[in-house]
Amino acid sequence: MGVTFSYTTLPKEELAEVNRQLEQKDTLDVIKWAYDQWGDELIYACSFGAEGMVLIDLISKVKADAKVIFLDTHLHFKETYGLIEEVKQRYPLLRIEMIQPDLSLQEQEKQYGDQLWLHNPDQCCRLRKIIPLQKALTGVKAWMSGLRREQSPTRAHVQFVNLDHKFQSIKVCPLIHWTWEEVWLYIKSFNLPYNPLHDQDYPSIGCEPCTLPVQGKADSRAGRWAHSAKTECGLHSQ
Ligand code: SF4
Repeated sequence: MGVTFSYTTLPKEELAEVNRQLEQKDTLDVIKWAYDQWGDELIYACSFGAEGMVLIDLISKVKADAKVIFLDTHLHFKETYGLIEEVKQRYPLLRIEMIQPDLSLQEQEKQYGDQLWLHNPDQCCRLRKIIPLQKALTGVKAWMSGLRREQSPTRAHVQFVNLDHKFQSIKVCPLIHWTWEEVWLYIKSFNLPYNPLHDQDYPSIGCEPCTLPVQGKADSRAGRWAHSAKTECGLHSQ
């Protein structure tokens, strides 16, 4: 696996072979493989959830100055912004960039109406997440995500290395086999910082208007867009 791949030069057969070889490696080796491939042309799009804390810690062991981006919709919980500051203190070499949408909330309200997330969440996610990520991925060859297969049926078939047709990029997902319990075991074992909302029944944390706590053993993403049929922000659909 010594060749550097890109979205346009990775045929399907070769992608399957890469994934077959990576299946025999542990998570840290998958991350090492990815940075060997792309170096600074690989960015980690972190949402600073529980998986994000694990991935940031593992990435920092491989490439202490890795590029990490956060899609700052201006609608996140104050606890999430607080956590990002904590992470910056703990991993000072990481290059964490807050990616901004083109429109301020006031401009969005003027153009699309009040509380767009209530009457057209797809449009809101497009403006505040998808277009900003598209711009952030311009000029880089691959991005990393903390998706896990057990998170939802829509994520059950994610591979370590994926052709991302939506963003015409390669998406690397080193945590596909991790369970929720393993994520928390790692966080607690290494005393990692995490969003305090996780201790208040928020397993999955996104923008404040679209995230509710989840009671009992419901699907961990059941609190996301609970006011609509939406289940994903669109970053991971093809
Ligand atoms: S998660 Fe909600 S508030 Fe955030 S961008 Fe999407 S629709 Fe808008």
